[in-house]
Amino acid sequence: MSVPYRIEASTGLPADGAGSQLRASEKIPIMARPFVSDRAKKTLDIVEKFVEEECIPADPIYAQQVGSGVEERFSARPPIMDDLKKRAQELGLWNMFLPKNHFKEGAGFSNLEYGLMAEYLGKSHTASEATNCAAPDTGNMEVFAKYGTQEQKDKWLKPLLAGEIRSAFLMTEPDVASSDATNIGLRMHKEGNEWVLNGSKWWSSGAGDPRCKIYIVMGKSDPNNSSVYKQQSVIFVPAETPGITIKRMLSVYGFDDAPHGHGHLEFNNVRVPASSMCLGEGRGFEVIQGRLGPGRIHHAMRSIGAAEKALEYMLARLNDPRKKPFGKQLHEHGVMLERVARSRVEIDAARLQVLNAAAMIDSKDAKFALKEIAEAKVFVPQVALDVIDRAVQAYGGAGVSQDTPLANMWAHGRTMRIVDGPDEVHLIQLGRNENKRGKWLLEKIEWQKKKSEEMARSYGHEKRDVLQLDRQHSKAKL
Ligand SMILES: Cc1cc2nc3c(=O)[nH]c(=O)nc-3n(C[C@H](O)[C@H](O)[C@H](O)COP(=O)(O)OP(=O)(O)OC[C@H]3O[C@@H](n4cnc5c(N)ncnc54)[C@H](O)[C@@H]3O)c2cc1C
Repeated sequence: MSVPYRIEASTGLPADGAGSQLRASEKIPIMARPFVSDRAKKTLDIVEKFVEEECIPADPIYAQQVGSGVEERFSARPPIMDDLKKRAQELGLWNMFLPKNHFKEGAGFSNLEYGLMAEYLGKSHTASEATNCAAPDTGNMEVFAKYGTQEQKDKWLKPLLAGEIRSAFLMTEPDVASSDATNIGLRMHKEGNEWVLNGSKWWSSGAGDPRCKIYIVMGKSDPNNSSVYKQQSVIFVPAETPGITIKRMLSVYGFDDAPHGHGHLEFNNVRVPASSMCLGEGRGFEVIQGRLGPGRIHHAMRSIGAAEKALEYMLARLNDPRKKPFGKQLHEHGVMLERVARSRVEIDAARLQVLNAAAMIDSKDAKFALKEIAEAKVFVPQVALDVIDRAVQAYGGAGVSQDTPLANMWAHGRTMRIVDGPDEVHLIQLGRNENKRGKWLLEKIEWQKKKSEEMARSYGHEKRDVLQLDRQHSKAKL
């Protein structure tokens, strides 16, 4: 692949002389380097440059072009996004997320290589969509690529891969605890050669955008099945099907995330052909499990980028000569340097964790990496939130206002502890699996104690506590 973008010809970014002039490919953690091809390294450098020099400056323009008022914001098509998409395609930055060992439709990178790129995408509000690597489309494209029939792929995957339409994944419902997917209750029943859908969905990310043309919907198709894991199905529903109402959009700590947004939808006798079924009737759990593996680490990878960006903002604020509380710049107040150091340590640890999960997926599949994916799903958002919070604190009032991206980043980061299942669900699963070793460990430790007693006897020792004293201060003989 030719490199149409000259990394060396860096434009106007100030030099800091402390290592951040290294290109992205030179900052790849040493443990990950053997897994990264030369082509991926070149692309990574282009991603970095595209994000830093084109997407981040475009972010506020995009926000402005979304406009004002609910109707306007949720029908906006910011022209800067179309320009960024064109530019990304010229640079060869398109669909990098679809892993090469499972899908022929993507750009030919591994999960680990994409992980390195996604970190940079996570530094900008516009970069993921500009490169056609934005959630929920990424996970949804994986569903089509993995489980779709040729007809479904032609109809929906092709325009999604081309970035012509967008999509939403509709699982969560307002009336049930949706973190337990067996509760999902949107009713699906069959009439002739059609499925009829009735019920409510909310937190349908992306549904606000008029370009969102296809919904992937989970519903209850067989409520009486003896297995609670076979009662649900996933079905493809065109957004323009009669009977669907987008009742309202939901806010995230006051941010509406327009035009993409998060919808609250009603399904009233919505009819789709039986051929719209994904994978097969009663196989909804298989589909959602297959969808969430790599998708979860995409979020984590982007969160690392958000954390890096927060740290950059923090360092900039610490060195702003105009701001000298109590006669010193913030970097001269020791507590601030400790917060910088703590952030550095945590981000670097989180990155290794995500890359390890990605490498595990690459070595086999997402199922093989369940533990590592769950660890990253829980750990990385907390790290990102802690780092962003420290940066907010360093900015004082400005940190919680619209004058830095930090407040928005915190709100977005906070949702990561809920999206794709709350922390507790993943922790319980991790804890339960870890605890499976408990009985064996109890036996092992008992065995080691016994062995130790045998060894002591073989050396002619009595078993004795090393701190045994048996001292009595009284001189009286009993
Ligand atoms: C910004 C955003 C975007 C989203 N996008 C989508 C989307 O595109 N599509 C979609 O379908 N959904 C989406 N969601 C929904 C999200 O996946 C759900 O909110 C999440 O799975 C939790 O389900 P729930 O809200 O029904 O909470 P509930 O299931 O009611 O859980 C509430 C709380 O109960 C606690 N809890 C749950 N289980 C346990 C347990 N086993 N042990 C202890 N405590 C527990 C947790 O603290 C949890 O937060 C989005 C959510 C947000 C905030």
